[in-house]
Amino acid sequence: MSQLTPMMRQYLEVHEKAKDAILFFRLGDFYEMFFDDAVTASKELEITLTGRECGLEEKAPMCGVPYHSAEGYIAKLIEKGYKVAICEQVEDPKESKGIVKRDIVRVISPGTVSEGKFLKDKSNNYLMSIYGNLVDTGIAYMDVSTGEFYLTQISDLGNKDAVLDEIAKIAPSEILINTILYKDKHFKNVMNIKFSAYTNVLPSKYYESDKCRQSIAAVTGVYSVNSLGIEGREAAIKAAGALIRYIDETQMRSLSHIDKIIWYDIFEYMSIDHATRSNLELIKTIRGGEKQGSLLGVLDRTRTSMGSRKLKQWLSEPLRDAQRINFRLDAVESIYSEVELRENLKNVLDKIYDLKRIVGKLSFGNCNGRDMTALKESISVVPELKEILRNSGSHLIDEIIEKMDDMTDIKELIENAIDPDGPISVKDGGIIKYGYDETVDYYRDISVNSKDMILKLEQSEKEKTGIKSLKVKYNKVFGYYIEVTNSNIHLVPDNYIRKQTLSNCERYFTDELKNLENKILEADDKLVELEYEIFQNVRKVLVEGLDRVKETADYISQIDVFYSMAHVAYINNYAKPRVDNSDQIMIVEGRHPVVEGTMDQNLFVPNSAEADTGENRMIIITGPNMAGKSTYIRQIALITLMAQTGSFVPAKKAKIGVVDRIFTRVGASDDLASGQSTFMVEMSEVSNILKNASKKSLVILDEVGRGTSTFDGLSIAWSVVEHLAENIGCKTFFATHYHELTELEDLLEGVKNYCIKVQESENGVIFSRKIVSGNADKSYGIEVAKLAGLPESVINRSNELLNLLEKKEDKIKKGKSTQHLDFKPGNNLNLFNYQDKQIIEELGSLPLDDMTPMEAINYLNSLKKRLGGENK
Ligand code: ADP
Ligand code: MG
Repeated sequence: MSQLTPMMRQYLEVHEKAKDAILFFRLGDFYEMFFDDAVTASKELEITLTGRECGLEEKAPMCGVPYHSAEGYIAKLIEKGYKVAICEQVEDPKESKGIVKRDIVRVISPGTVSEGKFLKDKSNNYLMSIYGNLVDTGIAYMDVSTGEFYLTQISDLGNKDAVLDEIAKIAPSEILINTILYKDKHFKNVMNIKFSAYTNVLPSKYYESDKCRQSIAAVTGVYSVNSLGIEGREAAIKAAGALIRYIDETQMRSLSHIDKIIWYDIFEYMSIDHATRSNLELIKTIRGGEKQGSLLGVLDRTRTSMGSRKLKQWLSEPLRDAQRINFRLDAVESIYSEVELRENLKNVLDKIYDLKRIVGKLSFGNCNGRDMTALKESISVVPELKEILRNSGSHLIDEIIEKMDDMTDIKELIENAIDPDGPISVKDGGIIKYGYDETVDYYRDISVNSKDMILKLEQSEKEKTGIKSLKVKYNKVFGYYIEVTNSNIHLVPDNYIRKQTLSNCERYFTDELKNLENKILEADDKLVELEYEIFQNVRKVLVEGLDRVKETADYISQIDVFYSMAHVAYINNYAKPRVDNSDQIMIVEGRHPVVEGTMDQNLFVPNSAEADTGENRMIIITGPNMAGKSTYIRQIALITLMAQTGSFVPAKKAKIGVVDRIFTRVGASDDLASGQSTFMVEMSEVSNILKNASKKSLVILDEVGRGTSTFDGLSIAWSVVEHLAENIGCKTFFATHYHELTELEDLLEGVKNYCIKVQESENGVIFSRKIVSGNADKSYGIEVAKLAGLPESVINRSNELLNLLEKKEDKIKKGKSTQHLDFKPGNNLNLFNYQDKQIIEELGSLPLDDMTPMEAINYLNSLKKRLGGENK
């Protein structure tokens, strides 16, 4: 039996500690991968697969990447959904007996990346931890690169929809989850289908209550979790505790910027489920998944990456508290109304770097002098920023100015210590500024003076020897030397000692040159060492002030969002909405923020909208295809959502009573990628609405029922409308091509019909895009088909067939066929229960005492008729 080599044994032992990761095993200047890892990595990274003797009969598959270019390869693997464990030598080879000790120094996964190409400037990268028992679910999430850390708990007694909505909002790149929750089949399915996060199911040891409490206390620096106000919230404590432990185990390095946990309540925010986020294209488009073409794409004119991330966060979680919303709106208004202020603000914001990520780098210890200089430059403009915003008249901005820290001490420290023109590397010297440290200055003087003296020496040797082309040069291998070309060798004096011979010249040194060289090398060595030490000391001092930097960075990002909202409002002609706690939504001449941007100015036709929870709670919009129904109902949702984010809105005027949730459903949306039938998806989304909508919700239904046959679809649409209008009573906008639904206006309270009129002309239809009250009289399907360029013969044949069908329909109607679905009262009792109700009501109020037996019999007979029975 063959035996594994010691190194391979070491490899396998180390790999045991990170079984689920691809192990980058450091050998010399390479990270090597073996066995299955090698096969996977060579394929994913497109690098050559080779083999290495490992003691077994067959060679071990192997591939490798140079350590200095590893970052790109790691990013690629992470992007493809793998974890990578980095294994380094952990002892000096000189001191080791036998094989050098190696161990994992870091595990990198999608949610723990803290630098490099995988991180996107304008997006947070969240690692999320979910702990669910059968009653409560705790959710903790963190951006390791910035230190932002949030925590909440949802008491849902088994309904996990709210938890899924949170995942949709946060869009984490990695999820930690406990087994109980992951066993919930529905939850697991939805999670895996809808979200592409890397998922780790953690064993119960991560959720031991006492240990979780200890980790939370250690990170936040409190004595007990009591003082954080989370005592008693067991699920939240476990989620946070497991998250911290996971970070500790994978990062194995200082994370001092993670020092605060922000508790939030999901009811502070409008909840928006995954389908709605995606349908409304808030952050990215449905098709390409791109920012361009989404609401964020229109609204993001922030000047810093921090601001961009903040705006994304705000759009993902619109507020519910009218007062907080109005504070934001006032802040935007104060900037909106002052052109000069906006311009000044932009100029100042442009000077600010990504402070939050710099804070992360400082804490990890992988920052350099340039990061510090960027920190200093950003801090330097804080006083100017405050000055510009003074007397804004906005309560929120006043508060921010009050709390923003000038951080003069930090600025001065960096200014005095760090050379702004220093190199990227922190280990080659040249980073500490002249005048900051006497010893550094001393050695630097020696080095500089000696270099001067070398120049002088060159001059004097030229003169002494008469060799005009004589040069003193330096290279890394040979140090300093005097170079003389072959034609001048006969002039070289005796004190020159030969160092190297080249084809066209000779290289020499002299005692004097050697002395100078020694001085320089010694001084340079000392300098490099000392500068690195001082740099680390400066870093330590800075780390102590990180929470101040973090806090001010957060204020700056808010200001940036206000700037962006004001600027966008100005260039796009938005209005400040009135937001209150009423149940009314009133939009005067509203526009779709994204669609209007895709067409020439003024071509977009504005439309008003009104809804409440009383007389106008179910708005049914009919009109032919392409008339603009979908655009219209979406713009209502977007305007409401923008208003609750604190943004101005694309309308002439708007009054928005805060809604608790927005739901949008689109009939038969294509969801083939996730392997569910489209109609099934449509129906499960509708079911979610009926289960979760409240009277305070805004529901947008677009062609619901379209995904199945006409009668099925119509029946479903009809009963959904009934349920929403009667049992829930929320504001609903329902765009549909089922004309029959307009009959509901007369049958149900709160239903109002609107339609988009089109004009017929000789050349086909003309879309007016104008919403008017009333219902569309026909569907114009064939006219639209004509517009779309279907061949004339097909169009003519369609018209012929349509005529035939319409005639047949008339006959059926006249022939009292029971098969035909007529939605007027009197028919189809079992399908539509409004008829039942009407009759039951009638019976209840029947004045039996005043009726003769004959009258009663007659009444019964008429009832029977109305119910479709024959009078025998
Ligand atoms: P429907 O849902 O009625 O089939 P859409 O809302 O999808 O119609 O609109 C079709 C197209 O009409 C859109 O892509 C857009 O280009 C245009 N459109 C919609 N609403 C308007 C409007 N108010 N003003 C101008 N063009 C519009
Ligand atoms: Mg449509």
